[in-house]
Amino acid sequence: ATPTALMVGTGRGAQLGILLSGPEVLEKTRRIDTVVLDKTGTVTTGEMRVDAVHPAAGVTPEEVTTLAAAVEKGSEHPIGHAIVVAAQDLPVPEVDEFDAAHGVGVSGRVGPSSVAVSGPAHLDVELDEGLRNAIGDAQAAGATPVVVLRDGTPIGVIVVSDTVKPGAAEAISRMKKAGLRPVLLTGDNAGAARHVADIVGIDTVISDVRPEDKVAEVVRLQQAGATVAMVGDGINDAPALAQADLGIAMGTGTDVAIAASDVTVVDGDLNKVLDAIALSRATLRTIK
Ligand code: ADP
Ligand code: MG
Repeated sequence: ATPTALMVGTGRGAQLGILLSGPEVLEKTRRIDTVVLDKTGTVTTGEMRVDAVHPAAGVTPEEVTTLAAAVEKGSEHPIGHAIVVAAQDLPVPEVDEFDAAHGVGVSGRVGPSSVAVSGPAHLDVELDEGLRNAIGDAQAAGATPVVVLRDGTPIGVIVVSDTVKPGAAEAISRMKKAGLRPVLLTGDNAGAARHVADIVGIDTVISDVRPEDKVAEVVRLQQAGATVAMVGDGINDAPALAQADLGIAMGTGTDVAIAASDVTVVDGDLNKVLDAIALSRATLRTIK
């Protein structure tokens, strides 16, 4: 590979809105056979909205929403943003001792109470039948339910959902035509993961994955012989982006994800992941 041709490839990438960390990235890109995609913010827009609030007996929906919003104010996760927006016309209390467990949830102290918002998979508490049904129905419908707890007691379920990016289905179809195997990798529940995978045409789904286990899933694919590109946007994707043979960050995502990656797709358009692969194949063919 001549340096000049690589520089031309890199410059062409920049024109397309694809930033490469260096010219050597083109060579890595050419060898990819598997593309692992994060769900939220990568395949979906990441602009989540609150669809429903299910309070436990004796609790009002406003209480559930405002307590959740108080702790989610400190979160950079799309779920947190959705809940804060849903509470914008309500009196949201202040939070102390905010803590975020990436890929799990958030917690903090609101007045005398400890409040937490977390995905149901990570909880070890009894839920009453109403809340259990709300969670089951939301997951079956492809949405994402989170549980709100006050002093360790579940006080409600908030259901959020997201939409698939325009162009995502086309990108996946192009990927398959180019001989690449797409895999959806997410910390979200199996129902929400399958729902998105079906819309865009991904067969292989790995769901309910904790952030630290996203790396392990990439390693597992690599050990099985795959050369893996990981596409992600979140803080929780950063280790997997670094581990992958090629890390591709959505420019619309967090700085941590961008720093961990070889390629940044400035506007988050998944079709540009394909453009990057096509560019590297074309550039390296020219130089051979
Ligand atoms: P993804 O892989 O789709 O980007 P994450 O790993 O960020 O998902 O999150 C996985 C799950 O952890 C979410 O579906 C949710 O159940 C829970 N979770 C993460 N962040 C939050 C938050 N700020 N509030 C509530 N739940 C959260
Ligand atoms: Mg994400």
